[in-house]
Amino acid sequence: MSYVKALKCRECGQEYEKTAKYVCEFCFGPLEAAYDYDKIKKDVSREKIASRPLNIWRYREFLPVEGTRYNTLEEGYTPLIRAERLGEELGLSNLYVKNDCANPTHSFKDRVVAVASTRALELGFDTLACASTGNLANAVSAYGAKGGMKRFVFIPSNLEPSKVTASLIYEPNLIGVNGNYDDVNRLCSEIAGKYKWAFVNINMRPYYAEGSKTLGFEVAEQLGWKAPDQVVVPVASGSLLTKIWKGTEEFAKVGLIERKKMKVFGAQAAGCSPVTTAFKAKTDTFRPVKPNTIAKSLAIGNPADGFYALKTIAESNGGAEMVTDEEIVEGIKLLARTEGIFAETAGGVTIGCLKKLVESGALDPHAVTVAYVTGTGLKTQEAVTDHLKEVKVIQPNLAAFEATHMVPA
Ligand SMILES: *Cc1c(COP(=O)(O)O)cnc(C)c1O
Ligand SMILES: [Zn+2]
Repeated sequence: MSYVKALKCRECGQEYEKTAKYVCEFCFGPLEAAYDYDKIKKDVSREKIASRPLNIWRYREFLPVEGTRYNTLEEGYTPLIRAERLGEELGLSNLYVKNDCANPTHSFKDRVVAVASTRALELGFDTLACASTGNLANAVSAYGAKGGMKRFVFIPSNLEPSKVTASLIYEPNLIGVNGNYDDVNRLCSEIAGKYKWAFVNINMRPYYAEGSKTLGFEVAEQLGWKAPDQVVVPVASGSLLTKIWKGTEEFAKVGLIERKKMKVFGAQAAGCSPVTTAFKAKTDTFRPVKPNTIAKSLAIGNPADGFYALKTIAESNGGAEMVTDEEIVEGIKLLARTEGIFAETAGGVTIGCLKKLVESGALDPHAVTVAYVTGTGLKTQEAVTDHLKEVKVIQPNLAAFEATHMVPA
């Protein structure tokens, strides 16, 4: 049984059945899951949620699947770390890092793919597919394997070697496309029109996107059933940012938390910053760009939810920032040095932007702040290898060690 009433057009409100459909036939607006919040309110409580297993399905009433046969690898309920050292360095007295590297395939994409693949199996699909900037490829490859599905995974051909390996190990059909993500996505939209496959981020997008809400739910629960005051979220398609906001609003709507104005800040790489550039220019329409950044997981030049991300930022009274590739590397190193977390380039974007947002005065230094770190550094090692100390190689004796002068006399 599901609490989803229908898929609903975000623009004109037209309702549709809960099938693999994603655009409105009347106005071409995107479709979104619409819930019966009165019913949810009657059926959920903090105690009920708290009694359930520590994965995203503890919030099942807010997720768009019908049954309870989840296609799961125990994704979610990742650590929310009190980041005192990083906070001290940046001048934030109440900082937390949501460490979503701690997911089955080591990025937040496991949340969205768990939901999309579960729904795909419910709808009878035997093939799971996606257009990916890297992490989604890993998650679709793994969750498709877990669900016993065929998998077609499309990526830009210049992806990081570790992200390719972390897909191939699950034996999907992996197709490298000569072009950037936006080219891959265009091709996949065409393929999705012809083959009856569940493309998680195309025809399954209304279900896929809802999985990101769990990042808002968890943070609220982990803070003791309270929303943070301000959050910094990396932006690629813009879906994650809008859904963290939507999830937090839903929790307030059904009375699980008190309503408060949470400010949402978007983080992008300067080499691919359509949303941040539009925000800074004070316009609500972005201009598509050709990405050129080491943050490949965020390299979407024509973001599907860019418009809604800008709307969410404006509505929440938040903001947006961008960082250069050098600042991304510094951000990765800063987080590792202060908090012991090795993030990928997208995490470097978040931390780099966090720093700049403090410096510009956009963030309140004493408010409860959450920085979302969405993927692991083990998959983007080439971004930092040239920026690290060297290993000292010695003979296996004490004198050789002391000759390194690593220990102060
Ligand atoms: C995909 C991705 C994002 C952004 O997700 P969108 O919903 O497309 O904005 C952020 N971080 C990482 C590591 C990702 O892989
Ligand atoms: Zn419509």
